Amino acid sequence: MPPVDRLKPIRTHSSESGYSLIQFMQEYPDDATCLEWLWRTRHSPDGETAYCPKCEVERTFKRYKCATRRQSWTCIACGHHVHPTAGTIFEKSSTSLHLWFYAMYLMSSTRCGISAKQLERELGVHYKTAWRMFNKIRNHLMADDGEPLSGEVEVDETLLGGKIRNAARRKRDALGWSPKRWDSETKTMVFAAVERDGRVRAQVIPNSSGPTLRKIVRDNVQPGSTLYTDEWLGYLTLRDSYLHRTIRHRDRIYVDGATHTQTVEGFFGGMKNAIRGVYHGVSSRWLQGYLNEYVWRYNRRGDRNTMFRDLVETAATRETV
Ligand SMILES: [Zn+2]
Repeated sequence: MPPVDRLKPIRTHSSESGYSLIQFMQEYPDDATCLEWLWRTRHSPDGETAYCPKCEVERTFKRYKCATRRQSWTCIACGHHVHPTAGTIFEKSSTSLHLWFYAMYLMSSTRCGISAKQLERELGVHYKTAWRMFNKIRNHLMADDGEPLSGEVEVDETLLGGKIRNAARRKRDALGWSPKRWDSETKTMVFAAVERDGRVRAQVIPNSSGPTLRKIVRDNVQPGSTLYTDEWLGYLTLRDSYLHRTIRHRDRIYVDGATHTQTVEGFFGGMKNAIRGVYHGVSSRWLQGYLNEYVWRYNRRGDRNTMFRDLVETAATRETV
């Protein structure tokens, strides 16, 4: 047997943990390493030269030591400062970069994600801070900005919200609302499009009217794709851009050869279970963030070896608006 290097433990193939905490701590042991990583990833692959926007050429940059070490590198020709965190979600944050990286590690290394409350405990920050970080990561880094879906795409919409309980029913009766009105006032409509054996997109939508649905389909599915929907009128008139197949749920037909919406229904089922498992109530205000994270995870099929890397790289390259 070859001698064992105790400083570089080898993971067994059977290990399911993907990118482990030990690997994370070896790669990003402290704040300075995270900043240096950002500097190299965003501006300076060799760590020394970078494009100076003021000189408008490649220059040598240095980090000058001063009382409070600046979070910036300085052009030795003109004195221009480059801040590696500028334009990222870390800009203006008083939370250390190392904690941000650790938060991204935690959110990407667990099977179903963690709650803001767990993040608060792990990071040792105030709940408000944890919540803010959580939402920035979900809304900014996990939002899908890739190519629209294509090929065979199933689309559908569903209502999310708590089941109606007795108290809610009494309230509804007191207000004299119909079940339909109650749903539209208290629940949130979610749209999803799923490529068969492929990627998914999901978005909170204000209603299921024709214009809303047609716009969201056009935003998320490439023209020329085959579209599978139920017979809901809102999806009609998409035939100019898509090969449109509808399934007649009204006639209790659910599968007709290749024409079905089982994939997107399966996605909704899994998503509702996940929400029920982790959260007690879903407020529509942060539901989109939740969807982003769920879809982000779904599209990576739980490949936890690459999920963290994916997240930090997005943090470095995706500009905040
Ligand atoms: Zn310069």
